[in-house]
Amino acid sequence: MERSSSTERFQPLTSISSGDGLEVTPDLYCLTIQIVNVVFYGHAGEGNDWVLIDAGMPKSADAIREAAEDRFGENNPPKAIILTHGHFDHIGGLIDLLEVWNVPVYAHPLEIPYLTGRKDYPKPDVSVEGGMVAKLSFMFPHEGIDLGPSVHPLANDHTVPFMPEWKWIHTPGHSEGHISLFRAADHAMIVGDAFVTVRQDALYKVITQEKEVSGPPRYLTTDWEKSEQSVDILQALDPHIAITGHGLPANGSWLRENLTKLATDFRQLAVPDHGKFVEDDQ
Ligand SMILES: [Zn+2]
Ligand SMILES: [Zn+2]
Repeated sequence: MERSSSTERFQPLTSISSGDGLEVTPDLYCLTIQIVNVVFYGHAGEGNDWVLIDAGMPKSADAIREAAEDRFGENNPPKAIILTHGHFDHIGGLIDLLEVWNVPVYAHPLEIPYLTGRKDYPKPDVSVEGGMVAKLSFMFPHEGIDLGPSVHPLANDHTVPFMPEWKWIHTPGHSEGHISLFRAADHAMIVGDAFVTVRQDALYKVITQEKEVSGPPRYLTTDWEKSEQSVDILQALDPHIAITGHGLPANGSWLRENLTKLATDFRQLAVPDHGKFVEDDQ
């Protein structure tokens, strides 16, 4: 089957360095900038239409634009920018990009207040167990940004602008209006931080990008019950390819086995034993 042979290709990859990109399918390009992934949807080629999903860490606008020029030609902005959610590591390049690209930004209605300056995310939980990244997370900005009239709510019918085969799925828990994107034709999924393939709370695993399917990054996840339900929803869709917000893209039987394990043992594998967003009864 052509699909499996083309997707098996990237399964054995064990490391990816900052600024590297990976063509996951002919129309899905995953660009890793520092510790976070952004996704280009569209076939490579001068002047081709394309969509950007998420906007990386602060100061990553140049890297995103350079990679976009390589893939889609100069002066060819995306048709739209779709946000899985509004955390600082997914919107960092956005303000700079919008200065050059006059394009609409779409997010879930519940995420819009964080993108229009009306709501701030809770402060990250530095008390959560799990190593250096959690301990350093107090430095992460948690204030919402104000994109003004550039940001629009995704439509209730789950269609994704300029991505006709795709549906958005509400996957809250990590943030209120978190979404993932799914294409039924090849079971490709753009997951955001609903689950990731690297343990964000273990610094050494972030640096080495050691691959494991893991729950959403702990220090910013505020609702573990909803996070668990979201993982169940995504697992039930049986993704064959998953591009997560952090860590390497995953596919095939490795993805199926590890995502099933995460969904089955979510409490044990993903939910911290203690922390300010954890209920006493969990
Ligand atoms: Zn996040
Ligand atoms: Zn993230």
